[in-house]
Amino acid sequence: MSTLFTKIINREIAGDIIYEDEHCVAFRDIMPVAPVHILIVPREEIVRVSEAPETGDHIHLLNAARKVGQKLGVSEYRLVINNGEGVGQTVPHLHVHLLAGREFGWPPG
Ligand code: AMP
Repeated sequence: MSTLFTKIINREIAGDIIYEDEHCVAFRDIMPVAPVHILIVPREEIVRVSEAPETGDHIHLLNAARKVGQKLGVSEYRLVINNGEGVGQTVPHLHVHLLAGREFGWPPG
C-alpha cells in the first residue's frame, strides 16, 4: 500500500506541490509550524534514514532543499529529519522539513 506522501506525489490526494524533479517532490505541510514549512520527499518509499540504502532518490534531498529555498526566496532555513517515532516521525516515508520565516531555538526541543 502506498504511503500518504506517495499518494500526494501521485496526485491521488490533494497536496500543495511547489517543486518536483525526477528524484524528489516538495509540498507545503498541512499543519505548518513556521511561516514557511515545506516537506521534501524522495519519490522512492524509504521509511527513514536509518533504513535507507546507499543510493536512491533520497541522496538528492539536499539538492532539492537548496532549489526549494531558491524558489521560495529564502536563504536561511532549518532542515529537519525526524528518524523514528520516538523523535517525532509520524509519516513512515523519509522526508526533510524546510522551515523558515521565524526565529528557531537551539538546541531543538
Ligand atoms: P514527521 O512528524 O516528521 O513525520 O512529519 C510529518 C509531517 O507531515 C507533519 O508535519 C504533518 O503536519 C505533515 N502532514 C501530514 N499529513 C499531511 C498532508 N496530507 N499534507 C501535507 N502534510 C501533511
